[in-house]
Amino acid sequence: MTAQLIDGKVVANRMREQLGERIEALKKMGIIPGLATVLVGDDPASASYVRGKAKACEKLGLYSEVITRPATLTQDELLAIVDRLNNDLRISGFLVQSPLPRPLDEQAVVLAIKPEKDVDGFHPVNVGLMLIGRPGLLPCTPHGIIKLMEYYNLDPSGKEVVIVGRSNIVGKPMAALLMQKRKWADATVTVAHSRTGNLGVVTRRADILIAAIGHPRLITPEMIKDGAVVIDVGVNRVDDCASEKGYRLVGDVDFEGCSQKASYITPVPGGVGPMTIAMLMYNTVIAAENQSRK
Ligand code: NDP
Repeated sequence: MTAQLIDGKVVANRMREQLGERIEALKKMGIIPGLATVLVGDDPASASYVRGKAKACEKLGLYSEVITRPATLTQDELLAIVDRLNNDLRISGFLVQSPLPRPLDEQAVVLAIKPEKDVDGFHPVNVGLMLIGRPGLLPCTPHGIIKLMEYYNLDPSGKEVVIVGRSNIVGKPMAALLMQKRKWADATVTVAHSRTGNLGVVTRRADILIAAIGHPRLITPEMIKDGAVVIDVGVNRVDDCASEKGYRLVGDVDFEGCSQKASYITPVPGGVGPMTIAMLMYNTVIAAENQSRK
């Protein structure tokens, strides 16, 4: 079997088109949704993610603000920025790019963000609403994966879904979304992690396998069952002297091997990544709509 590609760029473009109409409706009411990103320190990957988010805002005609500060920023100074953004009417939503340099406390920063402006969907209020199946701002990567499933009609209902990774930003919320009693969910979910005894035995059970590990090509063809849907969240830099940058990006899945066995598979790059940004734009628009009703 040669797997069909799940093209995140196509689905992200579709999402942007749909958002365009909602943005126009807001503009007619005199509202331009605004996203602020706060970048602390000089991590090149974080800087590139922040640039990508600002560019996405620009493409959609959203107001965007990028606040950059050196790694010497204190916790109090960072919390003062959060407080300013919480109260800035031009800003519908904002995020503080992770990872933060030490000793800044990421959890304390997330707690300080107003839940209605928490476009990453990381605040405990939004996490709790997601868990009990109530409307709130959903975390971008897991929500983007659900949108990929919808677009390709890969209904998780009644399916065995195995998620490898239990982080607060991908693995856990992915499990919470897929276990909900509703459409595009209703899955039987297993979450595996670094302490899982025999990972291959667990992953081979999966009708849908979601890898969010951060280890290049950890998932090999022997670890998936024939016809599985394979969603690769991982973004790993591996050395590549043939590339101008000296590295290239690969996922957590051995793409070449697994695409011979899977029915559908996401590439890296071009799979989950574009959806994460598209869902951030989506959350910014939702936040602006919600705030316009107040
Ligand atoms: P974390 O490092 O926070 O979590 C990784 C998870 O993988 C942990 O739960 C860890 O287990 C588990 N793990 C590590 N090694 C193994 C192993 N050998 N076997 C089984 N499980 C293992 O990472 P994130 O969730 O933040 O990100 C995961 C990947 O996804 C990264 O490559 C990241 O760059 C990428 N990413 C991509 C996004 C996108 O938009 N495409 C968005 C967010 C992340 P334990 O809990 O036991 O330590």
